[in-house]
Amino acid sequence: MDLKDLYRDVILDHNRQPRNFGALTDADAHADGHNPLCGDRLTVWVQLQGERISEVRFEGKGCAISTASASLMTEAVKGKDTATVRRLYEQVHTLLTHPNSAPDASLGKLAALAGVSEFPARVKCATLCWHTLNAALERSADAVTTE
Ligand code: ZN
Repeated sequence: MDLKDLYRDVILDHNRQPRNFGALTDADAHADGHNPLCGDRLTVWVQLQGERISEVRFEGKGCAISTASASLMTEAVKGKDTATVRRLYEQVHTLLTHPNSAPDASLGKLAALAGVSEFPARVKCATLCWHTLNAALERSADAVTTE
């Protein structure tokens, strides 16, 4: 099995059985995301302990790439602090927009998104969950400062 098959299998698996799927009832913040180019919609919920994401869940309807990307993202960011999450997103974005970039080992299963770079029209499907997560994190910061 070559790397491309492995990546495709990871995407298909996370689309069929998305991890951390379903509303988080005691979330500190949430945000809705919409990718009009494809019709993907999702909601991301976060629970925070200081700067650390202690819990993250998502729900939505979209194409296989948007669902798999959100599922992989929730697994990758859970337990991480927000600065690490920002760095992770920058690495994912580079992977998605540079077809010949080799995934960094620190990306773990997120490396499966490398195949998306061959389909520029689908990059927004894969980044939607990250933009939505960022929106939720910004909202939680607002909530803290206005208290
Ligand atoms: Zn899509």
